[in-house]
Amino acid sequence: MTSVRKLLRVFDPAVAHDEGAASSHPGVKDKATARKEIEELAPRLTELQERLYAEGKSGGTRRLVLVLQAIDAGGKDGSVKHVVGQVNPAGVRITSFVAPTAQERRHDFLWRINHALPPNGYLGVFNRSHYEDVLVVRVHDLVPKDKWEKRYDAINDWEAALAGSGTTFVKVFLHISKQEQKARLLARLDDPTKHWKVNPGDLDERELWPAYCDAYQAVLARCSTDVNPWYVVPADRKWYRDWALTHLLVEQLAELDPQWPVRPELDLDGMRRRLKLS
Ligand code: AMP
Ligand code: MG
Repeated sequence: MTSVRKLLRVFDPAVAHDEGAASSHPGVKDKATARKEIEELAPRLTELQERLYAEGKSGGTRRLVLVLQAIDAGGKDGSVKHVVGQVNPAGVRITSFVAPTAQERRHDFLWRINHALPPNGYLGVFNRSHYEDVLVVRVHDLVPKDKWEKRYDAINDWEAALAGSGTTFVKVFLHISKQEQKARLLARLDDPTKHWKVNPGDLDERELWPAYCDAYQAVLARCSTDVNPWYVVPADRKWYRDWALTHLLVEQLAELDPQWPVRPELDLDGMRRRLKLS
């Protein structure tokens, strides 16, 4: 079994500009195979996450944070629904980041991110993240350049410190092509059940496509480290996206290898006797 983490770990940050790469499907030949593999992996994902949760409930200090970044219509919500939706929601903490409030803006950009970190044992999901502070912020000059320039290093330092104390990040760039974004935005217009998602502002952002690709390239180039690498998931095909994310989570959790807590202090026999007599 090839390691999907190895396969998708960012190799060339310029991939952000490579439209063709977004529809590739490295590691699996077709949709049917991907679906079958996801089905086979699901119980493993569920158990690994439950073990991590049990570990956290028993004094463990580890947690996993899935960072989902993508351009509009890139599939962040779909990933939450179809991939994260496979595990017990009791152990999941999902945070969607929108433009910061006035109160949040009074603090350092990492302040609200710190507050969103999940409890020990949890799978945290960031739907958008601190990376927006070098993506949308950079593209729109929401803060002066000398300020956002310093954020790449600040992010690396912050993530490294967290990694040192038991937080594992799985940072995923869902990579779609401009063509696929057009198709998805058009499909939303044609589907009344998707109108709640329609945001005319997405069309303005779309016009800034090359600037976003530059900004993503910079993130991939500057914030992919040995400890906290970026993964680039080709996401034009939703079945591939789900397959890749499921593998990334399973592989990462398998590496953490959380164990069912052992409770030597419990008097199991005594409790059994008492229950039988009750
Ligand atoms: P959506 O994901 O469609 O709900 O949109 C959320 C919006 O919030 C997007 O347009 C993001 O660019 C924006 N957003 C998220 N984080 C930030 C940030 N740190 N600064 C400015 N805008 C942000
Ligand atoms: Mg949106």
